[in-house]
Amino acid sequence: MSSETIAAQHPSPSRNYDLIIIGAGSGNSVIGPEMDGWRIAMIERGLFGGTCLNRGCIPSKMLIYPADLAEHAKDNSRYGIQTEFLGADWPAIVQRVFGRIDPIAEGGRQYRHSLPNVDVYEHSAHFVGERELEVGGVRITGDRVVIAAGARSFIPDVPGIDDVPFHTSDSILRIAQQPKHLIILGGGFIATELGHVFQALGSKVTIINRGHWLLQAEDHDVSHRFTELAADRFDLALGTHVERVYRTDTGVGLEITCDAGPRTIEGDVLLVAAGRIPNSDELRVLAGGIDIDQLGNVVVDQYGRTSSPGVWALGDINGRYQLKHMANGEARAVRHNLLHPDDLHEYDNRPAPWAVFTSPQIGAVGVTEQLAQASGRPYVTITHAFGDAAYGWAMEDTTGFCKLIGDPRTRTVIGAHLMGYQASMLVQLLVQGMHLGNTADEMASGQVWIHPALSEVVEQALLKLVDAFDSHVWPA
Ligand SMILES: Cc1cc2nc3c(=O)[nH]c(=O)nc-3n(C[C@H](O)[C@H](O)[C@H](O)COP(=O)(O)OP(=O)(O)OC[C@H]3O[C@@H](n4cnc5c(N)ncnc54)[C@H](O)[C@@H]3O)c2cc1C
Repeated sequence: MSSETIAAQHPSPSRNYDLIIIGAGSGNSVIGPEMDGWRIAMIERGLFGGTCLNRGCIPSKMLIYPADLAEHAKDNSRYGIQTEFLGADWPAIVQRVFGRIDPIAEGGRQYRHSLPNVDVYEHSAHFVGERELEVGGVRITGDRVVIAAGARSFIPDVPGIDDVPFHTSDSILRIAQQPKHLIILGGGFIATELGHVFQALGSKVTIINRGHWLLQAEDHDVSHRFTELAADRFDLALGTHVERVYRTDTGVGLEITCDAGPRTIEGDVLLVAAGRIPNSDELRVLAGGIDIDQLGNVVVDQYGRTSSPGVWALGDINGRYQLKHMANGEARAVRHNLLHPDDLHEYDNRPAPWAVFTSPQIGAVGVTEQLAQASGRPYVTITHAFGDAAYGWAMEDTTGFCKLIGDPRTRTVIGAHLMGYQASMLVQLLVQGMHLGNTADEMASGQVWIHPALSEVVEQALLKLVDAFDSHVWPA
């Protein structure tokens, strides 16, 4: 049922709900069977499932998997076998991804429409007062409001950008034809993941980054090593100032000044991947009495409450993380808190793990060395190469490593940064120990590690960290 239909059936200028949810990404999972007696408004201006399902985590990883296969096929001579990458059928790849995803999004939408206690508003909403919103020409109020409206691509104010065609991650995953030469503005996780996809599948890729290193938020050992490796497969323009962007007969051009001096780069497709900003401005949260920080993130306390009583915020819009697994956890906490106002659950404040599914993969949790240093706390670091473990020999790995940062007072791991094959999975071994409160000694020796699995890299790194603790010299 559309909001126009709802407005026609309920001509009163304002409707009151027990619960209003803005955003059917992570917000969609707030609704549970315990709320069957509640009147609920679900507001979604786009596709059900939000960013992760439709234009984020899932389709990007479904594209990365064939990209990984293509990359692996290119050079296997070191193992004594000959393989070749012959090309990619991009339309077939896109069809595989969205042929699976689109029906799931539509199924979620139809399910919400089918619930008798839920009104679905498929329009953009904005606040007009405390717990009061305007959506599709209708004013609605809620006893409780959950803001789960996410974030969107940030478009930098580059001269000429308004006059050229460009993609963001929202659109490029469904692009009709594979670019011949893709120019990416930005050097973060979206730039390096999608750069990997298109380069592995045969496009030329130029990455234009303001900073001198890609993935600058990572531990510097990771970002520096990754950037060195990336230079072998991407055309990199680092330390860049973009003078202007212009349209060409076949696509776009950029005049830049970078570490290597002035350059002009022309390609057929431009992807802007320069970070993401919260949707709080479009939602006009200030009109709802909801505080934001200087970056526009909705400010929440440890329980997810905003400055406006009865209004909660979860996921990307509160700026705590831009990670789906953390948004899911916040949705679970908000759901509990809505149902149990006298027994509030806190948002998870354990170190959040993350991964970058580029090549090589990156998996990390906890503090970076630069953060440990800035905090002034005592710490020790060790690094262990994948190539020092038996499975690393099997892989002839020369680039992967596991860096651990430990607190010698507590003998715990406070940061783990892995780069290499399946780093996103290997890091989970460390997340588990850290979240369960184990020391490095317990993590290393309190279990039997399978030989000669790649997980031995983590075991050996932990043993090295234990040695480093033992030989740590305390400042006099
Ligand atoms: C390319 C890409 C790859 C990613 N990969 C990963 C990954 O591998 N792992 C990971 O953990 N995270 C990843 N992320 C991040 C992850 O997608 C987000 O952290 C997560 O989806 C945030 O969920 P959310 O519910 O906060 O917001 P969203 O899922 O964005 O949901 C917000 C919803 O609100 C709707 N909305 C917004 N404003 C309004 C309004 N005014 N009125 C009505 N509706 C509105 C939007 O249409 C949207 O559907 C990726 C993101 C991108 C872009």
